Amino acid sequence: MMLHTATSCNTQLQLATMSSNIRIEKTCEVCGNKYIAKKTITRSCSLTCARLLYKRTKRDEKIEAAIRKEAVVKPFNPAISQKEFLTIDEACQLINASRWTIYRLIDKGQLKAGKVGRNTRIPRTAINELFKLTEV
Ligand SMILES: [Zn+2]
Repeated sequence: MMLHTATSCNTQLQLATMSSNIRIEKTCEVCGNKYIAKKTITRSCSLTCARLLYKRTKRDEKIEAAIRKEAVVKPFNPAISQKEFLTIDEACQLINASRWTIYRLIDKGQLKAGKVGRNTRIPRTAINELFKLTEV
């Protein structure tokens, strides 16, 4: 490792133009402190802040992924309403309810469901009946 003891103006200029010696005043994204960054990708002032930032980024990624997943499930597939037997997921979409609600309705006996192997199937007619039962 070489020590950068710049004695002449020329050496200093050279160091300043070298990418590894960039010094930028930045504001820490975590604590808001001003600090001198040696790299343009640096986003925080200290190791502690870097760890916090990492955690925060991971959390944001998780939230974003969840939102994206939600968006994928959302678009209603009109073909579902044509089906005779629906999966739990399809039933959820059809009546715009959560899986938990569907399971609870099945549990209460309000929604008739059958098993195909290990998978639950809900007949369309059972869904229609459900709405007859819950008519207001
Ligand atoms: Zn900081």
